[in-house]
Amino acid sequence: MIKKTTTFLALCAIAFGSSSFDNNPPKSPLKKSQLRTIIIDPGHGGFDPGTHGLISKEKNVALSISLKLGKALQQAFPELKIIYTRTTDIMPGNRPTLPEGIRYRAELANKSHGDLFLCIHCNSDGRDAGRYAIRTLVRYKTVGRGRKKHQEPVYSTTWAKNTTVGTATYIWKADRNLPKGEAINSARGENLGDNSAFDMTSPEARMRAQLYEKKYFANSLLLGTLVQNEFRRSGRRSEGVVQRQIGIGVLQATGMPSVLIETGYLTNKEEEIYLNSKKGQNEVVKDIVNAFRAYKTRLEAKPDEKHNK
Ligand SMILES: [Zn+2]
Repeated sequence: MIKKTTTFLALCAIAFGSSSFDNNPPKSPLKKSQLRTIIIDPGHGGFDPGTHGLISKEKNVALSISLKLGKALQQAFPELKIIYTRTTDIMPGNRPTLPEGIRYRAELANKSHGDLFLCIHCNSDGRDAGRYAIRTLVRYKTVGRGRKKHQEPVYSTTWAKNTTVGTATYIWKADRNLPKGEAINSARGENLGDNSAFDMTSPEARMRAQLYEKKYFANSLLLGTLVQNEFRRSGRRSEGVVQRQIGIGVLQATGMPSVLIETGYLTNKEEEIYLNSKKGQNEVVKDIVNAFRAYKTRLEAKPDEKHNK
């Protein structure tokens, strides 16, 4: 779960569609062979459980789906190098605080020169899992005597089933350029063999970061759209590709296309059972692998890269 203050990007995706990534995807600065290191980041971990369902915690469900995802990606694409930010129930890097854990995840992704960052989470609608109480004011009653006599509210409680379900893919906020630019230079700098890459005051470094950032944003939006299409095809409800108003630390700090996939709501009883089941996890994994396959095909189908062969 991540805090929900969102701007929906579905319209943005449609607006971008025909020119930016539909039939004519943006040229990537990556060469074809460089889509090879995939960072998989199971959300939360250790002291940070994420959201609670009735029968499970987000950190465990995210880890289980992430490990299966890595395995499935490796089987489908043996040439890929898969790097996990954690494979057990720990805060990555065994860091004592959340920001430290996030910094560790981003550093690992950047140092590993990841070509794609996949962050796996489960969602919460902010209410209790399963069902929640609705208190309604029925009337006031008079209590006490003399000077202590006063009115007190009387409530009735009814129970409502928590029905919020669905999937969403988050991408970073495009106007927060500088942190992403710095991360891009840190992730790509060594590959470019250029010391100025680490110095964001250099005009060349800034320009290069902006160029990469545009491509990475378009590619993240493309992958997010493909993931949500696959979920929809499997009969899941889709909230589309979404941005959070104040940004998402780990997506800002990774210098590569990066998405955060909310695989469903643990606060809905049926969706929680689905996300904990073998069938549900396998389906989520299959959907993400299919989206990755389509994403890879799009990136590799670029006209400029065909000529370079
Ligand atoms: Zn989460």
